[in-house]
Amino acid sequence: MRLSGRCYAVTGLGYSPPWCVNAGFIVGDESTLVVDTGGNTLAAQSIHGYAVAARPGNRLQAIDTEKHFDHIGGNGFFRERGIDVWGHPGIARTQAEFEAEIEEFNQAIPNPVRRERAEASAFFFQTSLVNPNRRIDRDTAFELGDCTVEILLTPGHTPTNLSVWDPADRVLFTGDCLIREYLPNLDAGTPADWRVWLESIDRLEALRPSIIVTGHGPITRGGEVQSVMDSVRNVLRDSIARGSSPTASAPA
Ligand SMILES: [Zn+2]
Repeated sequence: MRLSGRCYAVTGLGYSPPWCVNAGFIVGDESTLVVDTGGNTLAAQSIHGYAVAARPGNRLQAIDTEKHFDHIGGNGFFRERGIDVWGHPGIARTQAEFEAEIEEFNQAIPNPVRRERAEASAFFFQTSLVNPNRRIDRDTAFELGDCTVEILLTPGHTPTNLSVWDPADRVLFTGDCLIREYLPNLDAGTPADWRVWLESIDRLEALRPSIIVTGHGPITRGGEVQSVMDSVRNVLRDSIARGSSPTASAPA
């Protein structure tokens, strides 16, 4: 969907139910920056197709907002087309990790016949693990021609999290630094990481965005911006006080 003059979101991409994941892109008059490549090659085909259609002939670049597979699974599709994929140097996933993800998907299939057929491999059709080929280890400005967007390091959910800010259109892509409708996933970190996460949200709040594309959940606009930030903050503060993630398995 079109969010502003040059910002678009691609929502509802598949991942492990009930999770769907978002991506998006920002279109300058020379270059288009894709934000996240989806969870698999099929998602990447959709994102790429929309991004090309929005302004054919633009140079394409992509960026991963973090290391989890729901945000990087389409990297291979982009790299096969010679498109640079930028990301934090901490995005260094292994083939074994990727295969474990596919196996976890397969084990979650309720129907034993489909499980036996290993239908998780259909979700990951022609998908290979590809890490970013260009590194972002500090806040960075991206020139897209007639506009400049800012890449901001916003760690906390993972150490690799980045956000993308279009200051002219006041649109912010946060990856999983912010999410809505779902509980944020704190399981990748510790209370020390969650304190860093709170600082990242403070940074994003200071930008005063008008529209937020969160990593998961519907697009956030206007008065919802503050409530999304506050709801993730509340989960983080409660978890820091308790010393455990809300989704951590109960002690035996
Ligand atoms: Zn995610």
